[in-house]
Amino acid sequence: MPDMNIASHCTRLQCQAGRAEKIALRWVDADFQPTDYTFADLERESNRCANAFAGLGFGKGTRFFIYLPAQPEVYFAFLGILKLQAIAGMLFSNFGKQAVQDRLADAGAQVLITKQGLLRRIRDILPELPVLQTILVTDLEEDEDQRIRSYPKLLAGQSTAFTVEPTAPETPSVLHYTSGSTGKPKGVLHIHGGLPHQQMTVREILQLAEDDIYWCTADHGWVTGTTYGITAPWSLGHTMVHFGGNFNTENWFRLLQEQRITVWYTAPTALRMLMREEDKIKGQFDLSALKRMYSVGEPLNPEIIQWVRRTLDKDIYDTWFQTETGGHMIVNRPGMPVRPGSMGKPVRGTAAAVAVDGVIAEQPETVGALWLRKGWDSMFVEYLNMPDAYRSKFHGDWYDTGDLAKIDSDGYFWFIGRNDDVINPSGHLVGPFEVESALLEMPEIVDVAVIGAPDPLLYEKIVAYITLKEGAVWDRKLELRCRIHITNRISPIAVPGEYIVRDRLPKNRSGKIMRRVLKAEYLGQDVGDISTLED
Ligand code: ATP
Ligand code: MG
Repeated sequence: MPDMNIASHCTRLQCQAGRAEKIALRWVDADFQPTDYTFADLERESNRCANAFAGLGFGKGTRFFIYLPAQPEVYFAFLGILKLQAIAGMLFSNFGKQAVQDRLADAGAQVLITKQGLLRRIRDILPELPVLQTILVTDLEEDEDQRIRSYPKLLAGQSTAFTVEPTAPETPSVLHYTSGSTGKPKGVLHIHGGLPHQQMTVREILQLAEDDIYWCTADHGWVTGTTYGITAPWSLGHTMVHFGGNFNTENWFRLLQEQRITVWYTAPTALRMLMREEDKIKGQFDLSALKRMYSVGEPLNPEIIQWVRRTLDKDIYDTWFQTETGGHMIVNRPGMPVRPGSMGKPVRGTAAAVAVDGVIAEQPETVGALWLRKGWDSMFVEYLNMPDAYRSKFHGDWYDTGDLAKIDSDGYFWFIGRNDDVINPSGHLVGPFEVESALLEMPEIVDVAVIGAPDPLLYEKIVAYITLKEGAVWDRKLELRCRIHITNRISPIAVPGEYIVRDRLPKNRSGKIMRRVLKAEYLGQDVGDISTLED
């Protein structure tokens, strides 16, 4: 049986392929000091972790969680967990008490790896987590008690050799909670056998070359941060930069320049922020090393593509996938003409379709549920503790993504919105994305979220929440210009009936607009689970 262990592919196999001395991780700390780790270092460090965990009696199937900001220990521990064939649960380090408790309890976490600053945040929930038997603290010098242990002390003296048991493809690997954009976050379980699909997309979509310096800005708490920020690129021997500093415009551009990053994978929310702060970057950084950019997480508005071309002189490619799909599904890529606003075409081996009332639509331009044919290998295998929810996602051979889309006559896919987000003014379906994209083209508007609200006349009316550029004022004239622009761009039906100006819009911690929060607020209803909402 070929060994499917993801961590072996990221470490030992890279060394065997002659990359032992190649830089795997360039860690750049908050002061911009780089430290390099080769593939041989990754192999040794992850082996030390695996030995340490095994020494505590943990092994196949143990549920580990990593609750840390980006720091080298994250990657070593993650790979060590996978080498044991244990499960690596990933938590975003900005999560507060309740969000952490919900996830650890739901998953029955047995081991938590964290640091003192974060442990302080969650100390009083520990009595509520009886199954959590060991907490390893990366900056604790001595064990506090049997449960709260010093991680450096545990690692000291561990052997750097470890033999990974042959790993069957169906062995569980990574556990991610979804972003919680549409409701309570769901625990999504993946398997080691998902690696080939992820690798194929690194080759064909990211198209990384042997000498590329690649940077994925997604946190390891989200699926992009592990699939495209850890496993897939390393399993093909690529060099990645990870950054320990804060996200702000100057920091990111300094990093791009100093590290001579060649391929950059980021998200629309970050790009909208950069657009807002264009003055800070325009002409001030040397981005000559950067070859191209990619985006994921939310629809990439055409305005952002234009801005990237105009201001940074780069191409940017939108990619669509979900926590559940484990890897790219519908994408743009170099070599295929981009239609701004379209998320592109299915990746190799993926069949995608649009379905209306459970029947696949043959007619181009039909708006319907985005379905994917089952069988790609990085597909999730379980919603933890929600077997009914898992089953309800499948219709025969097809998986319903919960998103709405249409396909044009050339096979390009266009994202319409989440199933729950689509608006129905007078019987015409309007997706929030196209209205948002049109509004974003107004120079005064820098961020926007569009929702539907009940209306006695129209059935549903369109409500636009907007954030204005500094110094811009909302008045009748600007509203009229928006009306004309949307009428020309889309149709009179898509013109919002109401605008609400906000300093900022509610986003979740992966940067996505939480339309359901705005909708609940608008309707005076309970917002539901908001554990992923930004502070
Ligand atoms: P939840 O499932 O808890 O509501 P979520 O769906 O936001 O949260 P993720 O799995 O992180 O959780 O995100 C996947 C979703 O993000 C997709 O279903 C889609 O709605 C959106 N998305 C991701 N990439 C794109 C993209 N390129 N264009 C449009 N939408 C995207
Ligand atoms: Mg989802």
